[in-house]
Amino acid sequence: MTAFKALGLEENLLKAIADMGFETPSEVQEKAIPILLERETDMVSLAQTGTGKTAAFGFPMLQKIDVKSRTTQGLILSPTRELCLQITNEMIAYGKYMPGLNVTAVYGGASITDQARQIKKGSQIIVATPGRMKDMIGRGLIDISKIEYCVLDEADEMLNMGFYEDITEILSHSPKEKSTWLFSATMPKEVSTIAKKFMHTPVEITVGTKNVGSDQVSHEYYLVNARDRYNALKRLADANPEIFSVVFCRTKRDTQKVAEQLIEDGYNAAALHGDLSQNQRDLVMKSFRARQIQMLVATDVAARGIDVDDITHVINYQLPDEIETYTHRSGRTGRAGKTGISMVIVSKSEVRKIHTIEKMIQKKFISKEIPSGMEICEVQMFHLANNIKDTKINHEIDAYLPNINEVLADFSKEELIKKVFSVEFTRFLNYYKNSKDLNIGGERNFSDEEAKDSTRYFINIGNKDDFDWMSLKDFLRDLLQLGKDDVYKVDVKDSFSFFNTDTTHQELVMGIFKDFKLDGRQINIEISKDTGRSKGRSGGGGGGRDRGKRRGDRNDRGDRGGNRGDRGERKGSFKKRSGGSNSSDKPAFKGKSRRGSERPETKGTGGRRRRKD
Ligand code: ADP
Ligand code: MG
Repeated sequence: MTAFKALGLEENLLKAIADMGFETPSEVQEKAIPILLERETDMVSLAQTGTGKTAAFGFPMLQKIDVKSRTTQGLILSPTRELCLQITNEMIAYGKYMPGLNVTAVYGGASITDQARQIKKGSQIIVATPGRMKDMIGRGLIDISKIEYCVLDEADEMLNMGFYEDITEILSHSPKEKSTWLFSATMPKEVSTIAKKFMHTPVEITVGTKNVGSDQVSHEYYLVNARDRYNALKRLADANPEIFSVVFCRTKRDTQKVAEQLIEDGYNAAALHGDLSQNQRDLVMKSFRARQIQMLVATDVAARGIDVDDITHVINYQLPDEIETYTHRSGRTGRAGKTGISMVIVSKSEVRKIHTIEKMIQKKFISKEIPSGMEICEVQMFHLANNIKDTKINHEIDAYLPNINEVLADFSKEELIKKVFSVEFTRFLNYYKNSKDLNIGGERNFSDEEAKDSTRYFINIGNKDDFDWMSLKDFLRDLLQLGKDDVYKVDVKDSFSFFNTDTTHQELVMGIFKDFKLDGRQINIEISKDTGRSKGRSGGGGGGRDRGKRRGDRNDRGDRGGNRGDRGERKGSFKKRSGGSNSSDKPAFKGKSRRGSERPETKGTGGRRRRKD
């Protein structure tokens, strides 16, 4: 808090900042705020998404405007309606101890009369998308002839979206004597052009390296045949039961198609693209924020600037045409100090693009493999076991228990567990047992021969225990006293992990873990059925960083909302099934709605989704 004070911010803002729970300023805030408070100057600020740019311009603007006046003094232009609303809400929150403050959002798809009425009441600050803004200025509904501060937020994206003309038109109605603050994640030449045109010797601030993505994000790519793209996507989702992701496609059509297919296959998915009405888009975003949607399939434009924390994975179903766009995509995850994974599904012809992106983001990709069916089965079973363990008992079932107990009276706990898991998994296992390897040979593959001499293990420690793939690898190597490359294919999931050693070390590994405790907890290890997917090696594993904490989070939400359904929602799913969407050739999971039995992969994908109604 004192750190914010040191930037020169006044008490009413400091109080709001404390309420928001911000403790220390982010780098861009630290750099921009003092300058903007002290001087009337133009500024160009380059910082990737999620670095706190809104407050970097928001705090100074709020401090500098006069709330006693009803004149519009500040204008913030941003590319999308979603962003516009986000910024508006954020500004209102920052200004909550500034009585008389009016911040109005101006964007397309909502009533122009309502917006005009609000502005007439006297908005000191207008947050707008360029299209609607231009429209309202044209109709004489907004007067920006007296603004003192103008922010161009996400300038690169506004230009990408073709708002150059609109911005020029809007700014022509604003006074020459004003400060223009431009914020952007990247600096393509269009942005420099606009900076030159509209600004006078702007102060330049760069946070991090230009175009370099967040350090919190690890980048992975999966090489598959183009025709396996969709199945690969499903496997990635199945292998990460807690996934909360944005899936990027290149076109609106693909976006719609992939989303529809996922929904049909029982995933909690939805499409977000420009052909949807505002209303539909709002609904989608609302469900996404509420975690009712785990896979938001989106176009770049529609997803731009979406500020949803805790996104675990960004999946590039297709790479973007413009390489720079990759930074925006991956910036959707790894926000607010959390880690995230950006996955790219590529076909052979696109692999060289990966190298171009590596150069741009100055980070290496990890070449990974689409998980095998067996690995997914293990993940899903363990996930179910954990869900059972974490489930709070619902006492509404108490009345039925005597009868249920009578039916099951003869079984031991062991038998019951076997039965429960058989109910869940028999078809699933059967399906995936014969599933094919979706990976195509990359440079780093080793032969089938080698694969046979490798053993894959399953171990019940993971992200929850503060391991990532690197630290787990180190931990295992130290423990087993093995060499640098003797432990490989380390894949850390939420509460468990996989790794490989050569089969020659199998006895050693099993011996050491025979009766092994970590912090007093019994550690179990098993030899995984998945012997290491007939082929393919990847760099040394990569962090499946399913956030440990999120499970609790989400389930809580779910319980409250009655909507989540990772547990206790069988009923709902049965209803759904008998609701008619399922054909008689029911796929893997009982009680999961799975249509489209003509598509082989639909049979028995994943354990988690489909039970949410
Ligand atoms: P950007 O515009 O750079 O993408 P935002 O301004 O949307 O980033 O901020 C990203 C998230 O970080 C928001 O949820 C915001 O409330 C939060 N945030 C911003 N500044 C701070 C801070 N100093 N401390 C903690 N959280 C912050
Ligand atoms: Mg922003």
